[in-house]
Amino acid sequence: MRKPLVVGNWKMHGNTAENAALLEGLLNTELGTADVAVSPPSIYVAQVAEKLKSSAISWGVQNISAVDKGAYTGEISAPMAKDLECKFAIIGHSERRTLFGEVDKDVADKFVAAQQAGLTPIVCVGENLAEREAGETLTVVGRQLGAILAALSAGQVDGFVIAYEPVWAIGTGRTATPEQAQEVHKFIRDQLAAISAELAENIQILYGGSVKADNAEALFTNPDIDGGLVGGASLLVDQFVAICRAA
Ligand code: 13P
Repeated sequence: MRKPLVVGNWKMHGNTAENAALLEGLLNTELGTADVAVSPPSIYVAQVAEKLKSSAISWGVQNISAVDKGAYTGEISAPMAKDLECKFAIIGHSERRTLFGEVDKDVADKFVAAQQAGLTPIVCVGENLAEREAGETLTVVGRQLGAILAALSAGQVDGFVIAYEPVWAIGTGRTATPEQAQEVHKFIRDQLAAISAELAENIQILYGGSVKADNAEALFTNPDIDGGLVGGASLLVDQFVAICRAA
């Protein structure tokens, strides 16, 4: 049985005081039985690691470089994230793809770098509104997923998480319906099954895009939705706690 997972993607929000208050709120509350993680801006990972080190909540980064070290001003590497005991690295978020020009090949390279460093990549895939309206959702998601699957080395067919995040649902308050999300999650699991039935059975596929306390349960009760990647609502203790409990 897959364990539910809820990951808070703080994006470029927070400061030391706000982070401390948010983490205190999470640490002082019963979060339920799902695995829970947060992804702060990388400059705050050390603060978060210190606060969470003896808790059940894990942490990760929102992006990594595809290379381990060198003259790459402003970048951080997968081994650096591992050094700060990150468990996860979000890879290929749509904001990275659309605002910072990451293409499938970049995402695949980062996926490999994360796995090699011992991080669990959370690979984001999802179509934009024009693609959905043109009926291209599964083609786009299949292409993005295919780039990752092509990068899987034999013997490393596990140890990652997929997040389906329809771009039109991110930060818009317009959530995919449970039926829309389940359709794509099932498609993703079927693609993975073609590689390994065991992988398909065990992998956690998260939904992201305007997950809130009041829609989380309806999403998470679907058979192929194993939790959420939560943006805005992960910055609010009450919202995030309710989402974790719903998973
Ligand atoms: P929102 O929950 O703010 O829509 O963001 C979703 C997301 O992009 C998480 O990675």
